[in-house]
Amino acid sequence: MQILFLGAPGAGKGTQCKRVAKQLNIPHLSSGDLLREAVKAGTEAGVKAKSFMDQGVLVPDDVLIAMFRDKLSSSDCAKGFLLDGFPRNLAQAEALDAMLKEIKKDLLCVVDLKVDPSLLTERITGRRVCTNKACLTPFHIKFQPPAKEGHCDTCGSTLMTRDDDKEELVAKRLTTYNEQTAPLIEYYGKRSILKTINGDGEPEAIFTELLAALQSKCHA
Ligand code: AMP
Repeated sequence: MQILFLGAPGAGKGTQCKRVAKQLNIPHLSSGDLLREAVKAGTEAGVKAKSFMDQGVLVPDDVLIAMFRDKLSSSDCAKGFLLDGFPRNLAQAEALDAMLKEIKKDLLCVVDLKVDPSLLTERITGRRVCTNKACLTPFHIKFQPPAKEGHCDTCGSTLMTRDDDKEELVAKRLTTYNEQTAPLIEYYGKRSILKTINGDGEPEAIFTELLAALQSKCHA
């Protein structure tokens, strides 16, 4: 089953994608997590990506396309995958269509997680994430606080604020989303696979709604 999530930074995509992928037992491919891992490991892709990520703008398409081509053709993805953060513009969406054609798979559902834009900045700047790269569970100081301040509920590791979640970069990331990624809603809306979910409420209620939508759209 091949699923794709769209949503502005701060919409809660990371939290929901992690849970949905676990529930459906498919790999969660988060472009942001993969890029941060590459930056940390100092790979060629990571070195190329870092300066763009530090400015809150998109990393060049060739880096993402090569990264996802490798992932999608791996045996881990044979039974499907959940894409989170890729594609992020029209050129990447077209490249994804070509990749899917090569591996003879279709996107079964595209979820657009929609959140009132006035809520996004607070959601992003209050976000904290687990530093354990095998965990990476996201929290929020106000909306989803950990049981023990500064520590992950799942594995106990310390929590951190991502460099690009700091206030000075947030406006840039939101503009990048509106200009380059939001047009994908229309791109996928032309097919009958787009499902819009209201991401304003409680994470638990949103998760329930998401699963129901995926069941009716793609028999998850
Ligand atoms: P995220 O964790 O999804 O918010 O991504 C963090 C940063 O990684 C973004 O601000 C971009 O700089 C970069 N990034 C993530 N996904 C992509 C993508 N598909 N294309 C280009 N850059 C990306």
